[in-house]
Amino acid sequence: MKISAVTVGPFEENCYLVLDDRTGAAALVDPGDDPARIVAMAERAGASPSVVWLTHAHLDHIGAVQGVRRRWPGIPVVLHPADRELYAHAAMAAQQYGVPFEQPDPADGSYADGDVVRLGSLSFRVWHVPGHAPGHVALVGHGAVLGGDCLFAGSVGRTDLPLCDPAAFVQSLERLLTLDDATVVFAGHGPQTTIGRERSGNPFLTGAVRISGAPRAVGVAPRGPEEPGNVRRGDRVE
Ligand SMILES: [Zn+2]
Ligand SMILES: [Zn+2]
Repeated sequence: MKISAVTVGPFEENCYLVLDDRTGAAALVDPGDDPARIVAMAERAGASPSVVWLTHAHLDHIGAVQGVRRRWPGIPVVLHPADRELYAHAAMAAQQYGVPFEQPDPADGSYADGDVVRLGSLSFRVWHVPGHAPGHVALVGHGAVLGGDCLFAGSVGRTDLPLCDPAAFVQSLERLLTLDDATVVFAGHGPQTTIGRERSGNPFLTGAVRISGAPRAVGVAPRGPEEPGNVRRGDRVE
């Protein structure tokens, strides 16, 4: 597997190209803006993507969907159904931010928690990790997680936007922490990192900084104030 990235648009969003080097099958993840540069990334890799996987439908992750569709007509676009509302209203949100935006036609496909999406000889598990957005998913497989705007190097996604759910976000981060330390995180913004690095150094995961609006810190089981019960490495919290 090869993963390339290009950082696009005013929100500096990372669009990824996932390539199965055995079969040549390729997917685009979150084509957020600047379709010409996304197309160039694919062409440099000698790839002709057969699918677009969206981690969520914030405007900075979907702004090049229509441009990608023009280059590869008929390419399916897959989105969790809980993000259809964000997707449908992305142009309105872009107007509020004052950024240019091309509203994409509706997504064709949907995935659900537990689905497996295949790409040539590769397969990824779909995890529904809501909180930053209601239909946010992470794609997990081959020692990597395409994590969208959940977990960043040294930070986490925002929880103060419309349709955010800070309590659900804490649970989603805890779910991501069940992955092995060596798992490489390909984030929606900023550099790639690993679960281990974030587990030990990310202030939002060590409990040093509270998630905005959340009822409790990450890794603190809701047992009552006398017994905070910190979660240890490797514990599974769901
Ligand atoms: Zn987002
Ligand atoms: Zn984003």
